[in-house]
Amino acid sequence: MPTVGLCVEPPPLPPETTRAGLRLDKKWPVAAGQLLWLPTKFLDTQDATLKGRVLSHLNAWAAHCGARFAETSGEALVRIARTPGAGHWCYLGTDARFVPAANPTMNLDSFSADWSEAECRRVVRHEGGHALALVHGHQRPPLVYRIDPQKTVAYFAAQFGWPADKTLAAIAPDLAAVGPPPAENSVMTYHIPGECTVDGQPIAGGTDIIPSDAALAALAYPPPTTSAPPPGAPPLYVVFPEGNGIGYYNGGWGVVHRTGQPIRWAVSARGDVAAVFPDAPGTWLWDVTTRQWYMIHPLQVLDLKFAA
Ligand SMILES: [Zn+2]
Repeated sequence: MPTVGLCVEPPPLPPETTRAGLRLDKKWPVAAGQLLWLPTKFLDTQDATLKGRVLSHLNAWAAHCGARFAETSGEALVRIARTPGAGHWCYLGTDARFVPAANPTMNLDSFSADWSEAECRRVVRHEGGHALALVHGHQRPPLVYRIDPQKTVAYFAAQFGWPADKTLAAIAPDLAAVGPPPAENSVMTYHIPGECTVDGQPIAGGTDIIPSDAALAALAYPPPTTSAPPPGAPPLYVVFPEGNGIGYYNGGWGVVHRTGQPIRWAVSARGDVAAVFPDAPGTWLWDVTTRQWYMIHPLQVLDLKFAA
């Protein structure tokens, strides 16, 4: 059996979330002009190289839209496992909220350092798209109508040993999705060989985020509104000597946040500040580019560490 990493359906959601008639809005809510932070954790590896590789490919989406996958050791909305044999899958957007907290929301089947960069790019970016509520291109009209179910069931049974129901689920029309017509070379579209299509012509399938994928993500999660950063080096951030606030120096002193009590904070290489305040719940980020505070998590105190 050839080794080809295809993305398969995730396990069913718990029954209470899939009652007939319940429709989920799977796009993450995010206030206008704000970043969407998706706290992300790895359930079965603490290998910094592996984690960094996955995060960098997930955050390929961040180059195009206002969504960010940020590693946390606390409560995470994106929980990544590497269970062998379970296939690659990811719950669509906010469906992840209904997954028990100990369970993964994304599986990267047997992900390891052995994966080629091309495979990592294709699979991890594809599953990251699902985490942002993007659906399969090959399941949307008109592409889905080019697929012959009988031929496809026979092909996937012969090639991969898939049962008919698994194949049919992977090519079932998704008529609830909105967006521009699907592109054959979208990162969200499978390669479908000519043996499976009505006209014998293959559907190319995608290997990376293409401009229409990026545009759709940006439509769903607009990049945060930015004001031009000050020219020259990023400002110097300091915690005030009495430990009750954060300020910056950029040719003159400015106050980022001031409290009457000690605060916990960390600063990134480019000057972003993550902080936990005694006078506000949750964890906050001062974005040096937009010069605004963003809520990273409304309740939890997350790790205040930036990657080097
Ligand atoms: Zn998929």
